[in-house]
Amino acid sequence: MTDFTPLREATTAAVLTPCDDGYAAELLSNNLFWQHTPEAVVAVTSAADIAEVVRFAAAAALPIRVLATGHGDESAITDGIVISTKHLTDVTVDPAATTATFGSGARWASIVAAAAPHGLAPVTGAASGVGAVGYLLGGGFGPLARSHGMSSDYVTSFTIVTADADIVEANATTNPDLFWALRGGKGGFGVVAQATIRLVELPELFAGNILFAEEHIETVLRGWADYTAVAPASVTTSVAIQRFPPLPELPPFLSGKTLLALRFAFPGNTEQGAELAAPLRALAPSVVDSVRPMTPLEVPSIHNDPTDPAPVTGFGGLLANLDQNLVTALLDLAGAGQEFSLVSVELRQLGAAVAVDVAEGSAAGGRSGEFTFTGVGILASPDLVSAVRADGAKLLSALGPWISPQTNINFATTSFRDQAQFAAAWPPATFERLAALRTEYDPAALFPFGPA
Ligand SMILES: Cc1cc2nc3c(=O)[nH]c(=O)nc-3n(C[C@H](O)[C@H](O)[C@H](O)COP(=O)(O)OP(=O)(O)OC[C@H]3O[C@@H](n4cnc5c(N)ncnc54)[C@H](O)[C@@H]3O)c2cc1C
Repeated sequence: MTDFTPLREATTAAVLTPCDDGYAAELLSNNLFWQHTPEAVVAVTSAADIAEVVRFAAAAALPIRVLATGHGDESAITDGIVISTKHLTDVTVDPAATTATFGSGARWASIVAAAAPHGLAPVTGAASGVGAVGYLLGGGFGPLARSHGMSSDYVTSFTIVTADADIVEANATTNPDLFWALRGGKGGFGVVAQATIRLVELPELFAGNILFAEEHIETVLRGWADYTAVAPASVTTSVAIQRFPPLPELPPFLSGKTLLALRFAFPGNTEQGAELAAPLRALAPSVVDSVRPMTPLEVPSIHNDPTDPAPVTGFGGLLANLDQNLVTALLDLAGAGQEFSLVSVELRQLGAAVAVDVAEGSAAGGRSGEFTFTGVGILASPDLVSAVRADGAKLLSALGPWISPQTNINFATTSFRDQAQFAAAWPPATFERLAALRTEYDPAALFPFGPA
């Protein structure tokens, strides 16, 4: 048992061990499946707090892991110290510089809200509750991926606490190698305290989603697959086969139904947007069609991801291509009328601006992927755990012929525990450079990252 008294004396941050009130609450995550039981969780409120924890952990040889929102949780943390960044939520917008600077506990929603009054927007992910820093460390494919590229391309600097407890800046001119690694290399370099991103103007946005009933899933999925082959670079679309439980609180068109959600985003005017969306709208009659002129505040409604914490798991990766045979394989497994336990199977088109790295280069993996795929299951009971895991494996196998050899760490999900799949989250040369930089910045592996 570690004596945390010296750490408690060195910092004003709450240092909570299992016998302290607030320990479990501080470890609560978006994913309710995993119970984290580290030796201690520290509720940091500044970079200086983080530095004290790093100094203490290095001396005690305790591993450090970071918990922000828990949207990336795929295993239980059972040892060492957890640094909880959920209180580092400050967001400051500099309208003249068109940047936003935020603490590492900030969620996309608060950055979107802070930028909007200035007519600016961050290049966000699909879900407003995801932590911006955790997301950016993996690169980030959002609802505007094809027109605007990866979100990490917009980072201008990180403030990070390294393994020797130094608080350092990483940007294009200061520690550029670390900056390169943090834009997509994810973990194993230290604890990010703060990030600054470039904001964009989004004066016009024509976007939303269209829900199609079960009987139209095949037609729409096949039509969408054809559309993606000719889609302009300015349009980002995705589809998700979604299964809704039979719940009285759901509207009748959702309760107990399987539907196809088609998401559309075009950062331009209504006339052009409507023209570009017309072939998709013409595929079949819709149940709901929310594609319309939007403000940046409404971007999270494009995907309409659930916002409440739940016991979930994911099966994901990237596809090298997509054709009608893939659609057949997917429909045979997860289409209308199939017994399938995953509540959502999503495909997002990449390409266009995603494929282009920033001029100075970054570690973000998966630029060569043409599509993402993600299956999501709810682990609400032991029976569901085995059904979901079996169906997740079937999904990976069914899509196998189209899966890209290169994936992205934000979409690697369950494959994270496998060394070969972990390595595939970056191009081989990037993976090697990241491994060398992790050894340089964290020689004692204070920040464990990757499969054990
Ligand atoms: C509903 C949902 C929607 C998503 N949508 C998208 C999407 O549109 N595009 C996309 O690319 N990804 C998406 N993701 C994946 C998401 O970007 C990653 O899971 C990301 O890691 C979540 O970060 P977090 O801080 O919210 O989660 P956490 O689980 O708290 O953190 C995940 C990991 O990020 C690292 N990390 C977080 N903060 C820090 C820090 N301050 N310093 C060092 N390391 C840190 C750690 O390795 C940590 O284990 C989505 C995930 C979910 C569940």
